[in-house]
Amino acid sequence: MKHNFGAGPCILPQEVFKQASEAVLNFNNTGLSILEISHRSKEFIAVCEEAVQLVKELMNVPEGYSVLFLQGGASLQFLMSAINLLPEGGKAAYLETGVWAKKAIKEAKNFGEVEIVASSKDANFNFIPKGYTVPEDAAYFHITSNNTIYGTEMFDFPKTNVPLVCDMSSDIMSREVNVSDFGLIYAGAQKNIGPAGATVVIVKNDLLGKTGRTIPSMLDYQVHIDGESMFNTPPVFSIYVAMLNLRWLKAKGGVAAIEKENIAKADALYAEIDRNPFFKGTAAKEDRSRMNVTFVMENPELEKEFLKLAESRGCIGIKGHRSVGGFRASIYNALPIGGINALVAAMQEFEQSQK
Ligand code: PMP
Repeated sequence: MKHNFGAGPCILPQEVFKQASEAVLNFNNTGLSILEISHRSKEFIAVCEEAVQLVKELMNVPEGYSVLFLQGGASLQFLMSAINLLPEGGKAAYLETGVWAKKAIKEAKNFGEVEIVASSKDANFNFIPKGYTVPEDAAYFHITSNNTIYGTEMFDFPKTNVPLVCDMSSDIMSREVNVSDFGLIYAGAQKNIGPAGATVVIVKNDLLGKTGRTIPSMLDYQVHIDGESMFNTPPVFSIYVAMLNLRWLKAKGGVAAIEKENIAKADALYAEIDRNPFFKGTAAKEDRSRMNVTFVMENPELEKEFLKLAESRGCIGIKGHRSVGGFRASIYNALPIGGINALVAAMQEFEQSQK
């Protein structure tokens, strides 16, 4: 049995794979494949509407927000968030917590002044900065709720009057958040939402239309809101599989229920990292991510050997990102506790083998 700890694209529930594969051959008994139906067919419009509805339900999205399924990944959102929200001659504030935040900063600089209010760059982003002040005159404050590469997660969102813009790519729907605390949330689908190819955007409508610039149509949130995510051909299959996955999450009891499981999974893995003398965590304890668990070995020379053992026990995708080294176990919603148990068992087996 394989346990997929990949950082994204990543594990999705087996039943979602099965349902998706059935729809490739015969979608909803239409005698057609999901891959060949028109995005304007009533069948697909129903899929898209259900996907949007499930996002709204699972995240308790309040009135006054739009939910979109777009393309271009979170990387396009680095640009779209800025072009739509940063007024001509205005300023935006950013928290620099990793490579993805840096890329968001780079794109925003194309549209106005950027103030980096705090950074953990000097510590290779192994913690979330705290105690900073957000400038009152910023059009928005951009944060990354979970830093996929460094294994840090923001558990206290800043209290500020400035609209919060959040890259939630790697922890969306893993825990409850209050959407009304945010002006804009975006996430590439390929972790907790579904397969790669779709990007979820949740935007507060009254923030739009205030930049004073002409926004090209494909980059304009309002155009996609008016087109109900069908201004152009949407990623039909990705949205379909995301919809199946969101149904799965709802049936499990929704975000509150999965959050409990995620806490139990992360606690079990961190407990072993802290107990086992061969391993140590890389992120500051209070900021440890429940989605991406980063750790190294006390003796880096043993890392290859442990990786081999873990792989032979079915633990796939744990090699760390090159900028942190060591290991990264991504333990998204769909990874069952059995995956954690297998990895913990491999760590214990390794410890025994060294005696
Ligand atoms: N932000 C975060 C937090 C990510 O983890 C990633 C991808 N792993 C990105 C942005 C970039 O996403 P995409 O590849 O969908 O553009």
